[in-house]
Amino acid sequence: MYNLSDITTIKAILKKNGFSFSKALGQNFIIDPTVCPQMAEAAIPDAGYGVLEIGPGIGVLTKELAKRSKHVVAIELDDRLPPILQETLKDFDNIKIIQGDALKLDLNQLIKEEFPNEKLVICANLPYYITSPLIMKLLEENLSAEAIVVMVQKEAADRLCADVGTRQAGAVTVAVNYYAKAEKLFFVPKTAFLPSPKVDSEVIKLTLTNDNKKDIEDEAKFFQMVQTAFTKRRKTISNSLCIPPVTKEQLTQALNDLNIPGTARIEELTMQNLKDIYNRIFA
Ligand code: SAM
Repeated sequence: MYNLSDITTIKAILKKNGFSFSKALGQNFIIDPTVCPQMAEAAIPDAGYGVLEIGPGIGVLTKELAKRSKHVVAIELDDRLPPILQETLKDFDNIKIIQGDALKLDLNQLIKEEFPNEKLVICANLPYYITSPLIMKLLEENLSAEAIVVMVQKEAADRLCADVGTRQAGAVTVAVNYYAKAEKLFFVPKTAFLPSPKVDSEVIKLTLTNDNKKDIEDEAKFFQMVQTAFTKRRKTISNSLCIPPVTKEQLTQALNDLNIPGTARIEELTMQNLKDIYNRIFA
């Protein structure tokens, strides 16, 4: 069995296959042997679970997930990697590789086909260039997964796990807080990767909840309001939330009724404030 976190082994596999890292695809592979077992342990509650992985690379995390779960389906965009994975993961019969773009695939359909009536978690060392859009997709599509355990750059982890109503919050923070309970699990230094990126990373866990869904009828419309207001985060909400067709007068009246000062910034509003404003004038 290959030791996929041993740097000499990895280099030999890559050399044998004439593989060179693609910066554009965010290819930084894990070489610290402690990281993937720790991540898999944190992601998988018990051996009855299925796992959807995004971006298996040469399979270092995939292998640890497969050891601890019923089966793993991994989506890899780079068509040079599936033949390598066939070799590196040949000792496992519970792994399926799908070549495709995780941003474009119909994940609900894929989950229905690959994990029918199964308990599911999603786990990935995410390519940093698609962190936000991919997390938004995983959240917004209401997938039947219990949790998402992902490694992201430290700065992204700070934003994703921030509290709504604080300076670190962004539109993606609101989405995470709306759909999940977010927590930081552990820090991963940049030296844990080959090639080593410029910044450190962090593993985070998003436990999916339905708590907010009863409050908002049209989630896409709600997040459109949130996103638009966050593009003007330095302005007061009497400006940033003045989004047509809502008029200044309607907004001022609604903020007065809700006891929310128009001089506040969007990043200072709580989730309840955002839901109240939306339901009062945007819904
Ligand atoms: N899981 C491996 C590890 O931890 O060493 C590799 C992680 S590397 C940071 C990200 C992986 O995601 C690469 O294998 C890359 O080719 C793949 N990838 C990039 N964009 C993708 C996309 N849109 N859909 C699926 N996989 C993608």
